[in-house]
Amino acid sequence: MFLDVKELAVRKLRIHKAYALGSIDFHSAEIKQIEPLEVTATAELLEGQIRVEGNLETKVELVCARCLEPVAEEVSRSFDLFYAPLPKNSSLTKHREDRLKDDDTEIGFYEGDGLFLADVLKEQVLLALPIKAICQSNCRGLCPNCGANLNHEECRCETHATDPRLASLARLKQDWLKKQ
Ligand SMILES: [Zn+2]
Ligand SMILES: [Zn+2]
Repeated sequence: MFLDVKELAVRKLRIHKAYALGSIDFHSAEIKQIEPLEVTATAELLEGQIRVEGNLETKVELVCARCLEPVAEEVSRSFDLFYAPLPKNSSLTKHREDRLKDDDTEIGFYEGDGLFLADVLKEQVLLALPIKAICQSNCRGLCPNCGANLNHEECRCETHATDPRLASLARLKQDWLKKQ
């Protein structure tokens, strides 16, 4: 769905839409949408800025930072966003910094005739996700030696030291002790 400034200038848009699996590209192999993304929102033109206000709900699958198993994450977020026309012949980053200094209002920019709602939603989903996903607070992760998932099995490694050189040193010492 494209939010066109010329259309928004005529009337406020009420949006109720479900995005099917895979219809939003998160540009990341570690984020997989596993339920339709439901959005209820309004879009309007306010003093030359596109305002998008509403909420979204979906479910995504992330990868546990410790054991690399999939983790399902419910996403529910409300938003009230303003998009100003991208100023011509001016530095975008400078403008953005100025804006951030002014106030905390979330503001973005649109180029040309408007912006895609999917891009707005993608950004909101990414903002709602934790920086690091963990499958369970006591996830034991993978053994740094053999790669076994320690939530499911005890591996045969003698130590879970992160440095494999330490592990082989420990083995050498044990062998030496046995010989004494
Ligand atoms: Zn885990
Ligand atoms: Zn191991």
